[in-house]
Amino acid sequence: MNSLTFRLFAAFVLLSLVVILLVGVALFLLIWQTPLGDRLAVSELNDVARLAARQLPPPDLTADRAATAYVNQLAKVFEVRVLVVNDNGRVLADSHPQAARLNFNFRLARADAQVPTARVGRARDAQLNLWVYVAYPAGANRGVVFVAPQTRVAVLQYFGENLLRPLAAAGLVAALLSAVLSIVIARWVAGPLQHMAVSAQAIAQGNYAQPAPVSGPDEVQALGQSLNIMAQDVQTAQQTQRDFLANVSHELKTPLTSIQGFAQALVDGAAPTPEAQQRAAGIIFSEADRLRRLVEGLLDLARLDAGRTALHRGPVDLPLVLRASVEKFGLRAKEKGLALQLSVPPGLPTLLGDADRLAQVFTNLVDNALKHTPAGGRVMVSAANSAGGPGLNGVSIAVADTGEGIPPEDLQRIFERFYQVDKSRNRAATRAGAGLGLAISKEIVEAHGGTLRAESVLGVGSKFTVSLPLALPGDETLAKKRPAGKSG
Ligand code: ADP
Repeated sequence: MNSLTFRLFAAFVLLSLVVILLVGVALFLLIWQTPLGDRLAVSELNDVARLAARQLPPPDLTADRAATAYVNQLAKVFEVRVLVVNDNGRVLADSHPQAARLNFNFRLARADAQVPTARVGRARDAQLNLWVYVAYPAGANRGVVFVAPQTRVAVLQYFGENLLRPLAAAGLVAALLSAVLSIVIARWVAGPLQHMAVSAQAIAQGNYAQPAPVSGPDEVQALGQSLNIMAQDVQTAQQTQRDFLANVSHELKTPLTSIQGFAQALVDGAAPTPEAQQRAAGIIFSEADRLRRLVEGLLDLARLDAGRTALHRGPVDLPLVLRASVEKFGLRAKEKGLALQLSVPPGLPTLLGDADRLAQVFTNLVDNALKHTPAGGRVMVSAANSAGGPGLNGVSIAVADTGEGIPPEDLQRIFERFYQVDKSRNRAATRAGAGLGLAISKEIVEAHGGTLRAESVLGVGSKFTVSLPLALPGDETLAKKRPAGKSG
């Protein structure tokens, strides 16, 4: 009862019945209103009139007595009401004088016309009943009028005899067609839906090999497509999650193993000299530090994943933040023999954001640049006004280096969590990361409504560009707190 087939069938049958009913009513009204009933009566009257003309041709009707006798005779023989009128329609004799008086309003066809034609029409009697009549000219200035009461019964009868059957047959055909159509349409619509239900169940059980069918009407096809996209997304998300977990475990395990090994050596006395002990303790310290940074990175990501609540937004004095981020690497750059430069144009607008988080981004980018640029190279941090998005002003900050560069195939992936271009190369570095830095930076920039892009030419250098809108669309905090355009 609840199936699509049944519902469609019920809907079609109902619709057909309503249409047939409407057609029936319309036909009935049409027949009721058009003088079909009259036509039936008229044809009978015509028959009578013809018969009468043949069997009892009218005598001279100018004398009233003759007229009365004639109508009485006709009425008796043919069992109809007959009248004699003059050519203005005035009644001169009536076979039923006791009946309500009839008034005609016609002019008879002229008696000298070549073919005397009958006049057919409707007339009302004194009691307002309708009559149909057939009037024949009968000699000079006289006509014989056969009348019959107009009856609706004839219409009903005609309807019942001639139209009810075809209408019922139409209903039956409509019901049969409805059944066939509903089965066909239900298959067309429900078929793919049933397959989709099977696919969805399979997806729920982790089986992604069975794509949903993309067939049927457009809406159902769109559903199938969406289901397939969703399955793909779920699969990717699960894979990402698995990779992430594997990466986390691996990144935690490596320093832990190292810490455990060197601690064991200390416990077992395998490091006998104070220098060896110092070295072991140093390694334990730096590995513990690496663990701390890793856990902090993971916590950062978790917080950023949770949404924008992780940001403490306020007016950011960008030149100040940039200066601080660059200055803390001054010594390291010098030691490595690198030129570290900062260029901030005057009049850089104040933007709305989380100063600490943005400092973390710039620190990470400068740190990376220094790590991947050999001695004699240059790291350049520069800021500029830019478009912060459609209809938004913004600033862009570029961190460019003359370092080793990033291979094109890696360039698209460096923002992925735990992605590292060359693990062995990185591990050797003093402050080896876990491949989370750029992922975190990107999340922070995007939480500010901005973008982080990387360009690089292998062997020439890399450039990371942070583009930030001054404020998110609809955010008026900045406008209220401090007028834009003031440089810090
Ligand atoms: P990590 O913590 O390992 O530095 P990041 O997410 O910061 O991880 O960087 C991801 C990878 O991108 C690194 O493995 C590194 O090889 C590469 N990379 C980042 N910045 C630069 C740069 N300025 N020049 C060359 N390679 C870079």
